[in-house]
Amino acid sequence: MSKKPSPSVREIRINPVMPSESVLVATARGMRPRKEEERVEQKTVEHKDTCPFCLGNEDKTPPTIAAWPSEKNWAVRVVENLYPILGEDSQNDGLVFGLQQVVEGYGRHEVIIDHNNHGIAIHNMSVEHLMTLFSAYRDRMEKLYKADPRIQYVLVFKNFGPAAGASIPHTHSQIIAMPVVPENVINEVEYAKIHFDKHHQCIYCSLINEALTFEATIYDRDSGEIKRKIDVGQYVVERGEKFIAIKPFASRYEWEIHIMPLNHSADYVDVSPEDMEDLARVTRRAMARLDAVIGGAQYNFFLHSIPQGDKYADCHSSYHWHIEICPRTSIPTGFELGSGLFVSTISPEDAAQQLREIQLDED
Ligand SMILES: [Zn+2]
Ligand SMILES: [Zn+2]
Ligand SMILES: [Zn+2]
Repeated sequence: MSKKPSPSVREIRINPVMPSESVLVATARGMRPRKEEERVEQKTVEHKDTCPFCLGNEDKTPPTIAAWPSEKNWAVRVVENLYPILGEDSQNDGLVFGLQQVVEGYGRHEVIIDHNNHGIAIHNMSVEHLMTLFSAYRDRMEKLYKADPRIQYVLVFKNFGPAAGASIPHTHSQIIAMPVVPENVINEVEYAKIHFDKHHQCIYCSLINEALTFEATIYDRDSGEIKRKIDVGQYVVERGEKFIAIKPFASRYEWEIHIMPLNHSADYVDVSPEDMEDLARVTRRAMARLDAVIGGAQYNFFLHSIPQGDKYADCHSSYHWHIEICPRTSIPTGFELGSGLFVSTISPEDAAQQLREIQLDED
């Protein structure tokens, strides 16, 4: 797509937020060790009689927990998951045997049916609809945290396409309220706090500022020598008034995009109704760009927000909520799973440029 091919890159990039995570960027031809995932056919079917998530089939799912704008004529609907990973019955209290610990599998697992249209993708939903969906995420998070003090984390995520683990093709999101904080979220929160204590600045805010204003300097990890300077504006995929979509400098997935509020905020629950509109627009446009470049993407989508509880009360200045969109374009290899070092065969700079160059219709 991009006319001028960039010089080939072969380097290990350390994730600036989580130094424990790194990616090998190796763009030379023949470096493609993986099997590419099939692209999912864009489904245009609006309704399927046999689909439990389609309009009119409400009796095929557990009862409605919440629905917008109304239960009868819903556009977004929340139900209990038929096969919950975590449930309300607790069998035993955190048993401890030596090094191996068990936390009781208490929690809630809900499904959000994103739209009453069977085959619609995020980038084809209206901004108004996405505002309803994103407000539904906020509403459920808030309610689930309030419902039970044992809930330490509410994870909102979405799997789209079989390679991303979606079992039902009708577009939906999931919410898991759990008694533990997932390790990757703890890592983000802790590394961000270390950065804050050292530099008195939120690392995510710094990355956004760099992306918008400065050149970044890449230092050699051992010698501390300047390796090169890069124009970091090249990581911006989409910019709204309140939100930004960026292609991270070091990310596990080749087409990974992060969406973040431009103004510092740790908690997704604090997004104002006015800001929801910009979040919806930026997400819609970022997804449209992804669709135009990689077409029919299968992806995982995670919402990372500050965990609840006193333990994290002093992390509000250092943590910054965000959405991670991780397209699954190829299957991770044994090397990647075994080493934890993910391989990217397209440089993040080229990926961002391709995404940015797409001409979108006005929305
Ligand atoms: Zn359906
Ligand atoms: Zn911040
Ligand atoms: Zn995250």
